[in-house]
Amino acid sequence: MEEINSESKKGEPEYMPSVIPGWFSEISPMWPGEAHSLKVEKILFQEKSEHQNVMVFQSLTYGKVLVLDGVIQLTERDECAYQEMITHLPLGSIPNPKKVLVIGGGDGGVSREVSRYSSIDQIDICEIDKMVVDVSKQFFHQVAVGFEDPRVKLHIGDGVAFLKAVPEGTYDAIIVDSSDPIGPAQGLFEKPFFESVAKALRPGGVVCTQAESIWLHMHIIEDIVANCSQIFKGSVNYAWTTVPTYPSGVIGFMLCSTEGPPVDFKHPVNPIDARCHCKSSRPLKFYSSEMHSAAFCLPSFAKKVIDPKAKQV
Ligand code: SAM
Repeated sequence: MEEINSESKKGEPEYMPSVIPGWFSEISPMWPGEAHSLKVEKILFQEKSEHQNVMVFQSLTYGKVLVLDGVIQLTERDECAYQEMITHLPLGSIPNPKKVLVIGGGDGGVSREVSRYSSIDQIDICEIDKMVVDVSKQFFHQVAVGFEDPRVKLHIGDGVAFLKAVPEGTYDAIIVDSSDPIGPAQGLFEKPFFESVAKALRPGGVVCTQAESIWLHMHIIEDIVANCSQIFKGSVNYAWTTVPTYPSGVIGFMLCSTEGPPVDFKHPVNPIDARCHCKSSRPLKFYSSEMHSAAFCLPSFAKKVIDPKAKQV
């Protein structure tokens, strides 16, 4: 196993950790002092796109793994938890969604889950890096199947710019399936972006964003909740779930609705597990309406920070 050392550009933080013989360790300034490691069987792809380092490796225990700038984005074994929860928490909370936008989502997994809803007639995806799409199609067929639905329109570009051009009230739901707030996704965690999301949603429309880890990023989460509570006049909730290969083994979601028909995120009105609209042949592996409601139960240390700013229906 050749040693791959990061050759980060001068002054840029090192995202690409050295791959020590036999192991990949996820070293990042986003989680100082800790690093999840996976035993590597073979590196399958490694190139630098115009936006980030893109790597795919075959792991011993989690199947193939997609890594961007040294950060694990998905593994074949546990991607179901993230893709299903980030999709069905919002879409399970509104009746008959029709138009959905996915920001990021270049692996196709969220789109695979969105396509389960027969009420939907338009799935827009805005992904900044075409290399991620191409790599997912090449190595992650079970995930990239999301691009095959005829309702999908793929836009390659920056989600911040894309949303600025979207007519007011276009979407029923926006899912922000972004990488972390360093590198190309930084703008997707800032207030102006959330303002443009609110504008692009119809009254009572919903947004669900990737919202980091309560164990590692309470400071980021606190800012996101504060911004969302100012911007979204409907409900504002934080949910979380377990994804073993994400830092600290969990990932959170910010769920907000715009002013209009009330949205009670904690009690799904459109539970996908109750009937099968499965455009994609595969059954759900992780999500259920019980998991949906349970996702909003927070530990005390997080509740204390989040609840005062969150807005339940
Ligand atoms: N599940 C992962 C997580 O929680 O970190 C995210 C997976 S998905 C691969 C993240 C995608 O966001 C990447 O393909 C990345 O290229 C894309 N992305 C990052 N910044 C973006 C931006 N400003 N506009 C659109 N897509 C962006």
